[in-house]
Amino acid sequence: MRSGDGRNFETLDVEARIVGSEPSGLVAAAQPTLTAVPAASETSSSSPVVIPSPPTYPPETALSMEQRLKAIQRVSYDRNFRLCFFIPPDESTVLAYWPDPQERLLARLAAVPPPAVECRYEIRAVPGKGVGVFATEAIALGALIARERPLVIAPLLMTPESIEAIVRNMPQHIRDACFALHNCKPPSLPHFHGIINTNGIHIGDMPGQSMYGGFGGLYKDISRVNHSCSSNASHRWDLDTLTGELRAQRPIAAGEEVSFSYLSTDMPYGARHAYLRDKYFFTCVCAVCRLPPAARAQDDSARKQLATVSGMVQKGVYFDACAADLPRQLEIAALLEAATEEHPYVWCVVAGRLARTYCALGEREHAVRWASKAMAMTMVETGADGGWAAVVAAPEKTDVWLSQAIGSK
Ligand SMILES: [Zn+2]
Repeated sequence: MRSGDGRNFETLDVEARIVGSEPSGLVAAAQPTLTAVPAASETSSSSPVVIPSPPTYPPETALSMEQRLKAIQRVSYDRNFRLCFFIPPDESTVLAYWPDPQERLLARLAAVPPPAVECRYEIRAVPGKGVGVFATEAIALGALIARERPLVIAPLLMTPESIEAIVRNMPQHIRDACFALHNCKPPSLPHFHGIINTNGIHIGDMPGQSMYGGFGGLYKDISRVNHSCSSNASHRWDLDTLTGELRAQRPIAAGEEVSFSYLSTDMPYGARHAYLRDKYFFTCVCAVCRLPPAARAQDDSARKQLATVSGMVQKGVYFDACAADLPRQLEIAALLEAATEEHPYVWCVVAGRLARTYCALGEREHAVRWASKAMAMTMVETGADGGWAAVVAAPEKTDVWLSQAIGSK
């Protein structure tokens, strides 16, 4: 759970990692269903290549206090919730869900073959961290590291009784896999509750279920990825296949540990450490946290600066994609490049604007460079290139190439 939410419901609250690099407030709910806006070139080979727009966020579910209380009551008292379903055909996932939307969801899933499990990693022991996930080959920016269906998909807001009901109804092979995961929580919390709190990853709302707190996924492998404040991977949720994906948000070398961030990118050093100690009972010793105090203060200040840019981008306040605005675009790109933590969504917008500007100026090399960056970051955010591959291949065929009208767009 992101900090600030759900504090009044501490005893009911199941914590989950925010996996992603955007500031709190938007991405936790929005990221799982981000979609790339395809360029026109994907549907017609004869028309000019259209510069893609950034991925779009679905509208956020705004729940009133009354709706929130009803949702809590439902989780607490609705006996139907205690039914657990297994996703066919391999029954590798427990889905804790209410009957009606569950049937609709399963009907939709029946048409989707189970995803092939991608594996470009291995799990091995890490001194001081238990185990970690390591790349078994070099992985390019935007490329897939892992694709996996969770062992359990369940609301993040559950009573201990509901959690126990899920455990009771689990097939043995799923229970064994869940209980093999680490539990960092104190023994006062029931063991499986602790496992979900330690390993659950926020995946947003499910169809027909805009729950307060959303849903979480508990993965056999992806949940073993350790935290870093300077992470190299990003998790995204694909609702159509009920599958989680891990993609490289930086190039990863063979043998390098794969990491993602359990918290918001804009948090300064002190707040990050307090959060990680409070929720996960460890002290982060990543490269950023080992910086000398002066460099650390500088990093905190850069994070604050980028949070402002990110906030503007997420609200749809963009700078103009025109030659006159080029210095500002390059200044923001330089900030992003120097940042110790990645901002994939901000990159989608900034690199996309730069590619568009350089197309308008007719500068092929720069246009390809920024279109490639936009393509990779769109892959990280959405799992698809969003139409950028066509721009990378032929920027001179875009509709804005050497365009005089760019200033007005
Ligand atoms: Zn750290």
